[in-house]
Amino acid sequence: MRPFAFKRVSAPADAAKLVAANRNARFIAGGTNLIDLMKENVDRPDELVDISRLELTAIRRTLDGGVSIGALAKNSDTANNPLVRSQFPLLTQAILSGASPQIRNMATNGGNLLQRTRCAYFYDLGTKCNKRQPGSGCGAKDGLNRYSAVFGWSDSCVAVHPSDMCVALAALDAVVNVRQPDGKERKIRFAEFHRLPGDLPELDNTLSHGELITSIDIPKSNFGQNTYYLKIRDRASYAFALVSVAAAVELDKGVIKQARIALGGVAHKPWRCTEAERFLAGKKLDAAVLKQAAELAVKDAKPLSDNGYKVRLTQRSVERALRRAAKI
Ligand SMILES: Cc1cc2nc3c(=O)[nH]c(=O)nc-3n(C[C@H](O)[C@H](O)[C@H](O)COP(=O)(O)OP(=O)(O)OC[C@H]3O[C@@H](n4cnc5c(N)ncnc54)[C@H](O)[C@@H]3O)c2cc1C
Repeated sequence: MRPFAFKRVSAPADAAKLVAANRNARFIAGGTNLIDLMKENVDRPDELVDISRLELTAIRRTLDGGVSIGALAKNSDTANNPLVRSQFPLLTQAILSGASPQIRNMATNGGNLLQRTRCAYFYDLGTKCNKRQPGSGCGAKDGLNRYSAVFGWSDSCVAVHPSDMCVALAALDAVVNVRQPDGKERKIRFAEFHRLPGDLPELDNTLSHGELITSIDIPKSNFGQNTYYLKIRDRASYAFALVSVAAAVELDKGVIKQARIALGGVAHKPWRCTEAERFLAGKKLDAAVLKQAAELAVKDAKPLSDNGYKVRLTQRSVERALRRAAKI
């Protein structure tokens, strides 16, 4: 690990200004991802701005009946919060499927959104990776790509976003609240927060350097207990998703009023299956309809040499998650 300056701040405005002033500075929250990247020399900041003591930990009901979760609330506190557990069990389930209890006790919500890909080529300095070193090429596309994307990838990058929490937030149409270095605030819809790789795979999201996530709002919804997070992985615990599905259905007398389906482990960002969602809206709930929606969800998949299995796995997982959510 290389030497770096360490600064601790007590106000969000100071944090944003300090990081904005140095292109090579980073916020550090729980440190569970950033420190690993620094130890591996994948990221080499010369200044860390410690935001872990900022008072951005509140989890509270919002005026519209939704819930706001602080960027610095721990993943474990968020998952176990009574408001979150009762109103958004999908989020609780997704968070608890990730990492380990020890890591969730350190990891923060803001850090979870900004964790970087687990693509092996990104971590291995001896290989080509456009995300780590722009212009160097993508080793995974024609290499070992069993874990790589089947949706939305580009010739520059086939990496996937590793978060579980983000898949649930995508399905719940969350909104990310951000503080800019000039003191202004802005809101980013979750669908626009993470980005596809295109020609700029080094950029994971639409934040500018120095922008600080302060909280995440989850709007009120009528899914109730009709939600389910399904995570398929190589090991039963402490492993990232091969494929994950966040499913939610709003039911009214046996009819699907609306459905949400978001996928993890298959794209550079949490992947919403909007065509399948539209197909389900207004349909009478039955197993055949859910199966058809699952087929639609993978219609546009483009597998690579080693990850064709993900297409069938995703289809089966969507069907299973929808059935669990609808309780049929
Ligand atoms: C062994 C292991 C297994 C894991 N398994 C899973 C898993 O199965 N599923 C899963 O979802 N996750 C998993 N994780 C990832 C874990 O959830 C993340 O490392 C964690 O959420 C990151 O949060 P942090 O607070 O530690 O972030 P940090 O490491 O402190 O920061 C990560 C990044 O976010 C930036 N950042 C942090 N907070 C803010 C903010 N408020 N505003 C702007 N930028 C900010 C930092 O500058 C940095 O770039 C695993 C991690 C490990 C180490």
